[in-house]
Amino acid sequence: MKNGLRKSGMKHALDKSVKELRCLYDIASITGAPDISLHERFAKIVKMLPRAFQYPEIASARITLNGEEFKTENYRKTDQKISADIMVQGTKSGTVEIGYIKTPPTTDKDLFSKEERLLMDAVAERLGTITEHRRAEEALEESEEKFSKAFRASPNAMVITSQKDGRFIEVNDSHIHVTGFTREETIGRTTTELNAWVNPKDRRRIVKILEEKGHVDNEEIQFRTKSGKIYTGLFSAEKINIGGEPCLISVSIDITEQKQSQEILQTVSHSSPLGIYITQDDRLQYTNPQFQKITGYTQKELLGRELLSLVAIEDSDVVRSCTAFTLQEDNPYPCEYRILNKTGQIKWVMQTVCPIHYEGREAILGNLMDITERKYLERKVIEYEELSKMKSDLLATVSHELRTPLSTIKGYSTMILDYSSRLGSDETMDYLKSIDNSADRLTKLVDNLLDTSRMEAGLLKLERSPTNISQLIQKVAAEAGIRAGDHKIITKLNDKLPRLNIDVKRIRQVLDNLIDNAIKYSPQGTEVLISAKKNGRELLVSINDQGAGIPAEELTGIFDRMYRIEQRLSSDVDGMGLGLYICQGLVEAHGGRIWAESTVGQGSTIQFTLPITSTVKRKMKRLTKSARRKNSLVVEDNIIHRKVR
Ligand code: ADP
Repeated sequence: MKNGLRKSGMKHALDKSVKELRCLYDIASITGAPDISLHERFAKIVKMLPRAFQYPEIASARITLNGEEFKTENYRKTDQKISADIMVQGTKSGTVEIGYIKTPPTTDKDLFSKEERLLMDAVAERLGTITEHRRAEEALEESEEKFSKAFRASPNAMVITSQKDGRFIEVNDSHIHVTGFTREETIGRTTTELNAWVNPKDRRRIVKILEEKGHVDNEEIQFRTKSGKIYTGLFSAEKINIGGEPCLISVSIDITEQKQSQEILQTVSHSSPLGIYITQDDRLQYTNPQFQKITGYTQKELLGRELLSLVAIEDSDVVRSCTAFTLQEDNPYPCEYRILNKTGQIKWVMQTVCPIHYEGREAILGNLMDITERKYLERKVIEYEELSKMKSDLLATVSHELRTPLSTIKGYSTMILDYSSRLGSDETMDYLKSIDNSADRLTKLVDNLLDTSRMEAGLLKLERSPTNISQLIQKVAAEAGIRAGDHKIITKLNDKLPRLNIDVKRIRQVLDNLIDNAIKYSPQGTEVLISAKKNGRELLVSINDQGAGIPAEELTGIFDRMYRIEQRLSSDVDGMGLGLYICQGLVEAHGGRIWAESTVGQGSTIQFTLPITSTVKRKMKRLTKSARRKNSLVVEDNIIHRKVR
């Protein structure tokens, strides 16, 4: 009896082990089955679990994994259960649980045996492993799929070749399209067999780079297509292993068109008659040969330099605002400005700019034309127009100024001729005086015109000699006194004025002119004061009157050619506006200055300076001994040349 009991106990234990083993075996076979998703595997495994337990008919099972639930049809929540955690990569990701939905007819203290608990742990561990494997497989499949999609759909030619001999293993559609070889014509053949390398040297270079660096990055290579056409590719390659064989996966970007446009642009830029530049942050990043020619700087000297450093300071704002305006309006707005080239020469240029992208950043492309010649001609045209206007003005003034004295001469001489017998001697004398005055006026007018044209042609020469200036002023003043009528001519000269090396005739002309003006533009009975004093290394001469004065805004204008104060033109005071212009020319030729000071209503003072020592000393040194012996100090190198203004 005891023996019988032991036997049935052993059979029971054996049955249990068989059940467990079967369960584990079944799980293993499901795990190993191909093409079954993780979901399907778990659904199958959960159904098998109750069979491994002592009372399968009342056992129910459930597996939960990451929120998903798999359970037997009879599953119900119960307290009579055991469970184990499913760990995936060290983290609890779910549980497996077995429970009895009814109380089993057992006498044992524990509902589940130790072996059953161990089985649960083994199953949980198995499920964890299955999940890990499956996830890894899925990730691999996913990345393989991504890779093959990218390979197939790449717009650039991609190939896989064997590293050993360059045999094509796989090519994508872009490669087929670019090379013209079909997939069948390509796979299994080598790059050399397809005559793909235009320069076999390139192949050796690539092999060398691969050996040294293990990969190739953006090497520019020329390839040949099936039809013999040559295209330029930017070639990159990496080593990979396929089925244990070392291979290369490579991609080449067709940059043929890009290269062609680059070459065209470069040719255009190099041969362009326009100066072309590119700036980024106002600094030059590119210049073409014509730009270098205009500026006189080399490419090396220009790169990195601020464009504005080449622009004449007065024009910097023009350049800035033109650029800003163009960029704002998106419309090229030409502007003209001056460039100071390397040798300090001014070059006029006309420029337009536009925004571009250069080496991945925003930039400004400028092109400029050298218009120096055009500007010169424009200036000449303006000068010519001014000159012709001046000539016609001069003609009108001259005719007007000639008419008055000429009519006087004609009138009085006709009178004398026609009525000489009836005219008294006093009357005849008066007429002759008027004729004489008018003739003097005409002579002065013609002299002024001649002096002006000689000065402007550079033909007026100074004949200097050391001169006692006090004596000269006194003499000029005395003679003016005779002409002056009711004006009082006064001189105020410092004692011991130095001798000056001047052209006496010309300085006398200056003094006469200024005194005559003082008389002409001040009322009868007033004083004209001529003073002279030493002022440092200069002699300062002033001619002061008590006339109407000169408005402040006219004080400099009166020295311009043919300039007369507007309100006085209507008055009957004769003149052509040449007197002060000539005075200025003569004083400046002597190395002096001339200017006017005035208080309107009170009078004017015209002042001029003449250098004292230096000129005399310098000139004296140059004189020959014979010239000194003769005491005739003629200086002829001081040519007066006035430019037309
Ligand atoms: P003009 O032949 O007209 O006198 P000038 O060149 O000598 O020519 O003088 C230019 C102008 O300057 C005169 O027309 C006159 O309006 C003004 N001017 C010259 N000197 C004086 C002066 N002393 N007082 C007031 N105005 C003067």
